[in-house]
Amino acid sequence: MTPVAPEAVAALVVVLAVVIGWMFRSPRPRTVAELPPQWREQLYRQVPHAVMVPAALSRIYEDRVRDFLLQKRFVPCAGLKLSDDMRVAVAGLACLLVLRPGARLFPDVRAVLLYADRFYVKHDEPDEFGLVSDAPVEQLGESWHGDRVVLSWADVEAALHGDAVNVVAHEFAHQLDDENPDVQGAPALHDYSRWSEVMLREYQRLQRHRRPPVLDPYGAESPGEFFGVATEAFFQRGAALRQHHAELYALFHDYYGLDTAQHALWGAHRKMP
Ligand SMILES: [Zn+2]
Repeated sequence: MTPVAPEAVAALVVVLAVVIGWMFRSPRPRTVAELPPQWREQLYRQVPHAVMVPAALSRIYEDRVRDFLLQKRFVPCAGLKLSDDMRVAVAGLACLLVLRPGARLFPDVRAVLLYADRFYVKHDEPDEFGLVSDAPVEQLGESWHGDRVVLSWADVEAALHGDAVNVVAHEFAHQLDDENPDVQGAPALHDYSRWSEVMLREYQRLQRHRRPPVLDPYGAESPGEFFGVATEAFFQRGAALRQHHAELYALFHDYYGLDTAQHALWGAHRKMP
């Protein structure tokens, strides 16, 4: 057998490496367009909470808002005249909940149903006495264990103007809660020890408290409602939540990746970042 020169072997190895590398190259990342300027303007004009997003997360935030608007269908209900302003405002509030690394964009939600104001629904779930009432119940929002979230636009607007109630944060917190159907009142987590310890203590505290200073008493209904109500307080009353419920605030600060207590949102002059 004719001996092969080491240089020839080296050259062959280089060629093979290039060919194999070409064959198995990972697909080039898709060029991702930015949030269109019009949506961007609508976002920062309408959603005061956007200033709570630190500069390091603003691109992620805008990408999530863009994806939300492209992926979720908005359905106007009961004669509502749906506008782009409404869609962007809902997307802007909802996406604040999914800025942490690895967060998924509410994969179960396919549609957002929007009413002009509060709406009435019939529930077939039995009450604590086992009775099912056919009387319609007034609702400002609903999150179905399925593919849709229902919202009252009047209440979305109220949240944008500083109301303690933030129906978008509340209903989309229910969506996070549904990520792990085995645990109520918590999103999907690798380790539940800190979450369950803090949330249980605060939940029981709310159940004992007759006139809670920050949290809506409705949160005492169930661990799931407590998660929703506490999320509303985190976004609407961050400083007060930190003052009265420091551990709960710290838990949400670490989970959502935002320091909402730092920002006095309403009345402050807002400008585009
Ligand atoms: Zn709820």
